[in-house]
Amino acid sequence: MRIDVVSIFPEYLAALDLSLIGKARRDGLLDLRVQDLRERTTDRHHTVDDTPYGGGAGMVMKPEPWAAALSEIAEASPVPAGRKPLLIVPSPAGAVFTQRMAHELAEEPHLAFACGRYEGIDERVLEWAAERFEVRPVSLGDYVLNGGEVAVLAMVEAIGRLVPGVVGNPESLVEESHSDGLLEYPVYTKPAVWEGRAVPEVLLGGNHGKIARHRRNEQLRRTAARRPDLILALDPATLNAKDRDT
Ligand code: SAM
Repeated sequence: MRIDVVSIFPEYLAALDLSLIGKARRDGLLDLRVQDLRERTTDRHHTVDDTPYGGGAGMVMKPEPWAAALSEIAEASPVPAGRKPLLIVPSPAGAVFTQRMAHELAEEPHLAFACGRYEGIDERVLEWAAERFEVRPVSLGDYVLNGGEVAVLAMVEAIGRLVPGVVGNPESLVEESHSDGLLEYPVYTKPAVWEGRAVPEVLLGGNHGKIARHRRNEQLRRTAARRPDLILALDPATLNAKDRDT
């Protein structure tokens, strides 16, 4: 998968050199390129922002450097002719990023990310970009960050780990929070008793059927306690009779 990120703080994205995503880059599974938007400016001060039309607080990102950066990315896109690469625009005014979205995006051959700063990017950039990309404003959640970089770190990590080969044991992606609409069950390791607290007996017994039932019950209890909205959104067809007793 090819990933392009445009930012005025490319150093922010240095964390994508670490851990599994860094290894995936070195192994050639993720071709991740970070571009400095200021290198696309033409004035002596490398200006990327200006005052907003209509007045108001803050500055707005100018369209010209974005057009220069994004047109080059679109031209170099590996997506087959007739298809457009995806441009994700992090924004608190976007659709909320979810595990389901991460799965969809992990299927894409090419993702570009445009990191806004200040009050955001001149809206015309998104209209202009729609001729070259499928443009999607995406939010990390209902709160406001200073810039898109932190959102991109989170999204690239969530998407990248779903690309085949990035996580060594694909089984570990199956029983995770949000993979089946529920939160993950609690997990434990050695010692069996720590600070007077014992691991649930059933996990020590080796009965796989009982362990699976115990974990499923814990998933349901934890989700009901912490995220009742997820329980309400569950498709009843995914529940079995024993789930209903929990
Ligand atoms: N004035 C904008 C608004 O109210 O919608 C917020 C601008 S914010 C200070 C600057 C940049 O941070 C945004 O352009 C976006 O790239 C990023 N950002 C802020 N909150 C975000 C969130 N919840 N999800 C994704 N990106 C976010």
